[in-house]
Amino acid sequence: MSQDAKVAVSDAVRTFVRREHGLFIDGASQPAHSPRRQDVFDPATGEILASVPDADAADVDRAVASARAAFDARVWRGLRPADRERILLRFADVLEAHAEELAQLETLNQGKSINISRAIEVGATVEYVRYMAGWATKITGETLDVSIPFPPGARYTAFTRKEPVGVVAGIVPWNFPLMIAVWKLVPALAAGCTIVLKPSPETPLTALRLAELAIEAGIPAGVVNVVTGGRECGAALASHPRVNKISFTGSTPTGKLVGAAAVQNMTRFSLELGGKNPAVMLADVDVDQAVQGALAGGFLNQGQVCAAVSRIYVHRSKYQQIAGALADVANAMTLGPGLDPSAQVNPLVSAHHRDKVEAHIARAKADGLRFLAGGTRVDEPGYYVRPTVIADVPHDAALIRDEVFGPVLALVPFDDPADALRLANDTPYGLAASLWTNDLRAVMNLVPEIDAGTVWVNCHVPLDPGMPFGGYKQSGIGREFGKHAIEGFTETKSVCIAH
Ligand code: NAD
Repeated sequence: MSQDAKVAVSDAVRTFVRREHGLFIDGASQPAHSPRRQDVFDPATGEILASVPDADAADVDRAVASARAAFDARVWRGLRPADRERILLRFADVLEAHAEELAQLETLNQGKSINISRAIEVGATVEYVRYMAGWATKITGETLDVSIPFPPGARYTAFTRKEPVGVVAGIVPWNFPLMIAVWKLVPALAAGCTIVLKPSPETPLTALRLAELAIEAGIPAGVVNVVTGGRECGAALASHPRVNKISFTGSTPTGKLVGAAAVQNMTRFSLELGGKNPAVMLADVDVDQAVQGALAGGFLNQGQVCAAVSRIYVHRSKYQQIAGALADVANAMTLGPGLDPSAQVNPLVSAHHRDKVEAHIARAKADGLRFLAGGTRVDEPGYYVRPTVIADVPHDAALIRDEVFGPVLALVPFDDPADALRLANDTPYGLAASLWTNDLRAVMNLVPEIDAGTVWVNCHVPLDPGMPFGGYKQSGIGREFGKHAIEGFTETKSVCIAH
């Protein structure tokens, strides 16, 4: 267990963590109506880090009322688009100025490596804010030369306006708490909406800090609200009649509940859900590139990534080589807390989730599967699971079917790419996939046949703010990123003028 050069947590972070946290409503931290509180843990030690309110329906009602009032008063949507853009760009600057603080806070709370917090959770997020800020001035409708035939001789011109959908509920999981909160917050704000964010009960701290920094950047009070809580809080938000749009990221079962609740009020919704993402490595695969890509795509954030590669189909001619290389690296990876930048494997987010991942591993053992790496418990404080590589996994194994959301790779050999494609697609999920080959014809033939919202070629997991992201099948409804994100936070109004 590496503990060498742990990053020293700053005073600002320590002070924030120890605060008596409330809910962020109307531009300030406020005591909750609910008397219940939830402990927040440090995954590296299992010790209590902080405590936040476990908000109830009355708290959700207050937060929605705050967002509604800000929307109706036009304090945000009434600004010139260029002013919204400018303020969102300032928000990016403020986040950047607090980058190290936010990165430390996230690593303390979520467990991930400080390197990943710095580069992705904060670094990529700041870029995403800047990209989305630019959309505030680029939201356009269409003009339509319509052909309405009556009364005879009448002339009409029609146009469409894109208007903010209203109050948004942004419901966020625990794997990238800051980044995914911002994926919802910033396009919603660029479109002119107001928002109530609900972070996961495991990881509420960066969302609370994000709301404070929004005020510091000049986003008016009431535009950004945060309620902390679990299922009751999430369900109250998803079923709230004064919410106009739910942007949800989480598991497929919870996403189905959210969709069902939304439909009762005709609330618009988009769902970013789970994945069981395949990589298909053809006979000409570049072995080094593929091994590096599988490690990055499978073990990033300990595999707690919706788009993580979890099933790897390898042409039999390269199977032993790739399986051996993956096992060698996985067996040599060093475990340690996220605050130690040299640690390659960090704790999972919670004891509960560690137990779930271990149950998947136990099931794989009971199924008699062949472990090349991992599979033994880590007897240390903290919620560690060793990187695990399992070979020759049959298609009917639970490991092929179920989302593990942990550092577990299932390897499967194939002879015919058509078989690999069939196996890769044979899942209820369809979030992402990757193809590993330099055969251009194979790429162009196979990409259209893969049931996934994103197909990477010779890489797995890179995202870009402009590249649509979302799932086929039970991996979701709708797309985030790019213009799709903005469209999800607007209504289209047709205007028809007789002249
Ligand atoms: P989860 O579904 O348990 O929880 C997600 C959020 O929903 C949390 O904030 C939770 O408190 C809230 N919630 C719980 N019950 C609710 C209800 N009835 N109504 C409304 N909200 C409710 O998911 P998780 O365990 O936090 O996150 C892991 C899952 O998220 C994985 O399945 C992963 O694949 C998925 N995920 C998907 C993406 C994506 O973009 N597709 C990204 C990250 C994570």
